[in-house]
Amino acid sequence: MRSSSVPCPSCGGSEAMILETRHNLRDAIRRRKECNECGHRFTTYETTIDPTTLHSMATHATSYLVGDSRMRTLLRDLQALINEYEPPTPQEVR
Ligand SMILES: [Zn+2]
Repeated sequence: MRSSSVPCPSCGGSEAMILETRHNLRDAIRRRKECNECGHRFTTYETTIDPTTLHSMATHATSYLVGDSRMRTLLRDLQALINEYEPPTPQEVR
């Protein structure tokens, strides 16, 4: 049994049991959880995009294609995209 630090939306409890974990096509991890304190069930989404990994990948892919200044611009744009990405709003499970 694993617990999570994501607070319960119902009571704010910090301990929740993960009932189910699924990966979807948008690189998000969907977890169904049950609060250990009040029993409320809810769903969370977590992205798997790691900026550090993305940075190293982009650096490797572009270092021999474009100049250094263009690469920095590309990395900045990619970072902006990551920052703007919003996973789906968690929905209550009935
Ligand atoms: Zn709760």
